[in-house]
Amino acid sequence: MRIDMYKNILVLPGDGIGPEVTAETVKMLKAVAEKFGHDFHFRHELIGAAAIDATGDPLPPKTIEAAKDTDAILLGAVGLPKYDQDPHATVRPEQGLLKIRKDFDLFANIRPIRLFSPLLDASSLKQEVLEGADIVFFRELVGGIYFGEPRGRNVARDEAWDTMRYTKDAVVRIARMAFEAARRRKKTLRSVDKANVLECSRLWRETVNEVARDYSDVALTHMYVDNAAMQLIKNPRQFDVVLTENMFGDILTDEASQIAGSLGLLASASLGPGVGLFEPIHGSAPDIAGKGIANPIASILSGAMLLEYAFGLKTESDAVWRAVSSVLESGYRTFDIKDTTTTDDKIVGTKTMGDLIVSQFPRISV
Ligand code: NAD
Repeated sequence: MRIDMYKNILVLPGDGIGPEVTAETVKMLKAVAEKFGHDFHFRHELIGAAAIDATGDPLPPKTIEAAKDTDAILLGAVGLPKYDQDPHATVRPEQGLLKIRKDFDLFANIRPIRLFSPLLDASSLKQEVLEGADIVFFRELVGGIYFGEPRGRNVARDEAWDTMRYTKDAVVRIARMAFEAARRRKKTLRSVDKANVLECSRLWRETVNEVARDYSDVALTHMYVDNAAMQLIKNPRQFDVVLTENMFGDILTDEASQIAGSLGLLASASLGPGVGLFEPIHGSAPDIAGKGIANPIASILSGAMLLEYAFGLKTESDAVWRAVSSVLESGYRTFDIKDTTTTDDKIVGTKTMGDLIVSQFPRISV
């Protein structure tokens, strides 16, 4: 068979359910390669608690070297309760993730919230509120309060502090990316901030307004984050492309996961000037890790985003979305998205859900 595309993919399974769900995505990517005539090579390395246990470092040099020498990174999730429950731990799994984002300048986190119609019932929101909702978040990922200095703690005075900091350049580059996406979609962009209170948000709003002058075909609106949190569940259809800073985006996208029905369905891409990183938005879910019941769809759709954003393979990416949709149409559910009408024979585990999605490929015409 003629090989259309040869690519290297670095797989960082991480912790908890990370290895379980990424295994299904690797399986899907192998099936895509076979169906569409590509050659994908996979290399696995450590990150997070798994890396701390093996090397003492949440992002070992070997992982960084591998990331410099790959075409895309597929990540599972990081985090374990033994670190979450120890506020004094100085080496922590999430440091590995924050470091890789920072080192590779992955400043744009893209999170699509697309509703699968067979899952309208899985959401805790009413069907008439949800129907037609289709949102893409552009979250700034390497600035703001998660990275600002100084940060610290004075134990004797029971005091702690963090710093929210943004530069104009940091806002310009994520804003441009969001405006470009808005141009390809419905030509509307909503920027979310807290400009009535925060100086960083005032800089954010001024800068977004400046960038908007280059995109006169896109209708820009601003909204305060507290209002956005309320409007998202009141009337999600009013949003299309949403642009926001790091912490607001973190919180709003978890909230918006309820529009799609479950955290187990939401994918993300983190892009910068070089290699991109693709990961589900959920964490390592220690409560269900090792049970074989985690929903692999968020990871598989992150693989679909990898195909589109890292390799420009839109047809292949669309085929993955259709394969997921068609499995859900057939009534199959992991436990997190089952509803009262789901019969026992349709409730499947991680591996079976992956197999069902892959089994759709021979049937998908291209
Ligand atoms: P979580 O996303 O891991 O889990 C929240 C809830 O959603 C849990 O009940 C879990 O069982 C469920 N859930 C998550 N993914 C699921 C899936 N694929 N299928 C079915 N159910 C799923 O968030 P948390 O419990 O707040 O955090 C657990 C650990 O993950 C912590 O250590 C946290 O720091 C870490 N975390 C990592 C990332 C990341 O790696 N990007 C993101 C968020 C949290």
